[in-house]
Amino acid sequence: MTPPVDAPLWQDGWYAPAQVLRSPNFGPRPAGAQIDLLVLHSISLPPGEYGGDGVQRLFTNTLDWSAHPYYEQIRGLEVSAHFFIRRDGALWQFVSADDRAWHAGRSHYRGRDNCNDDSIGIELEGLEGSTFTVAQYATLSGLCQALRRHYPIAHVAGHEHIAPGRKHDPGAGFSWPELMQRLAWPSGVFPAGVASEPQP
Ligand SMILES: [Zn+2]
Repeated sequence: MTPPVDAPLWQDGWYAPAQVLRSPNFGPRPAGAQIDLLVLHSISLPPGEYGGDGVQRLFTNTLDWSAHPYYEQIRGLEVSAHFFIRRDGALWQFVSADDRAWHAGRSHYRGRDNCNDDSIGIELEGLEGSTFTVAQYATLSGLCQALRRHYPIAHVAGHEHIAPGRKHDPGAGFSWPELMQRLAWPSGVFPAGVASEPQP
């Protein structure tokens, strides 16, 4: 969906090109929060199955925990991310980027704890260790550019970088060089060492 040229791209933290499905799992950011970090994740529900509505249901607390054996492991979980990018590149938004979504958990990056306070979470439909689609990189890079024009983004990292050892997404199948090439941002924006990771 392309908004009319005179419509604002952002309205109260909502990005006009995204399909909106509001999650109740959010809260206010701390006063004075410097929203300078983008956190990339991967998710699919059930794991490895694409195209269903499991992620949308998880983020809106409407997932039927008995619908799949895996869901028993996450029963009762209340989480959210600001954005979700499907395999075909379709973009969804669940929480205003002005608000605090619940995607990072216990985390530490660029000298600060509790990354949910001052980051924006972007979920890629996928599986840790598996690759992502060209359409996803295209949507992701466009979203990153739009975010950086609206927020003081200075860092992009994976969940695995802000919660090392505890989290492993988006994983080795995510091509940081692909994203870096598309964005052409200074290499210091990205986690140390990812530029030399092999292309999947
Ligand atoms: Zn994650």
